[in-house]
Amino acid sequence: MAVPKRKTSPSRRNMRRSHHALSASSYNECPNCGEPKRPHHVCGKCGHYDGREVAAETKA
Ligand SMILES: [Zn+2]
Repeated sequence: MAVPKRKTSPSRRNMRRSHHALSASSYNECPNCGEPKRPHHVCGKCGHYDGREVAAETKA
């Protein structure tokens, strides 16, 4: 098994992790009820997608 010759320095480790940051997920307003919903997903509040109801409305 190949084994690293040297321990990864804190600088190298942190350079590797420079791409690991999380970004906030995007959302749109549901055109039917106005609730925030994720793009390309059925609205969790009213069950609408693409202008029609495709899932049962959640009773809240
Ligand atoms: Zn909705």
